[in-house]
Amino acid sequence: MNKLKDKVAIVTGASKGIGAGIARQLAADGAKVVVNYASSKAGADEVVASIEAAGGTAVAVGADVTIKEEVEALVGAAIDRFGRLDIVVNNSGIYQFARIEETTEERYRKQFDINVLGPLLVVGAAAPYLGAGASIINISSNVTHVHPAESAIYTGTKGAIDAITGVLARELGPRGIRVNAVSPGLIETEGTHTAGAMGSDFQTWNEAQTPLGRVGQVQDIAPIVSYLASSDAGWVTGEIILGSGGMR
Ligand code: NAP
Repeated sequence: MNKLKDKVAIVTGASKGIGAGIARQLAADGAKVVVNYASSKAGADEVVASIEAAGGTAVAVGADVTIKEEVEALVGAAIDRFGRLDIVVNNSGIYQFARIEETTEERYRKQFDINVLGPLLVVGAAAPYLGAGASIINISSNVTHVHPAESAIYTGTKGAIDAITGVLARELGPRGIRVNAVSPGLIETEGTHTAGAMGSDFQTWNEAQTPLGRVGQVQDIAPIVSYLASSDAGWVTGEIILGSGGMR
């Protein structure tokens, strides 16, 4: 498939999980992909190797999305290596569920820094290089619809992302740049395994609430992102698309 031929993409947090799947999908659809990581260089290198083995083009670039200089270097690396930038996927994110009594400044700042400040810095650094036909996709979550207990900070970060998606669609629309969000339900990833969500009561509850009767896989999300990145979605902006098997 070549629907993203000649496009260049940055996917943040692509060393594992949903981001790795998105990077592989965009590359399979023809884009040259910058595979960003924060700490997992080996994971990012593995994603790049799998893309190259499939005939695609990718490069791994380390950057912490909460640090402006590193984000500017990430965007600079895309331009230096591939000469342009068309697709930005703000995927990097963390989730730390906790009872409201357990709220700390540290939990608040870490989640808001990575999940909200990160995408703002990334779009801010990328915007000067984006032209008509470019596409920004923010990975939100269906928690903004479902409101799970003990997720006030995390759900707050994704509510902010939903609102920011609308603002940026309006702000960048006049330049022909589209901005959308994809909101997964519970997806099996390294992160959800580490968080203890897989195999837990939370997984059982999710399956029971999901019309399609299972939790999602990375491959349930990646094609939605590729669609939004492509000209097939040329008249779609400011939308928040649920990829949750119908759980809302
Ligand atoms: P994951 O498996 O834990 O992977 C998280 C990725 O984010 C890793 O590549 C990690 O990089 C990167 N990251 C973390 N902090 C970063 C930073 N400061 N700068 C740059 N990258 C950073 O997570 P996931 O489950 O795939 O989730 C990915 C996104 O989907 C998140 O935004 C999450 O909120 C959202 N989401 C997930 C689910 C789900 O059920 N999995 C559902 C709805 C929404 P390193 O490993 O290199 O540090």
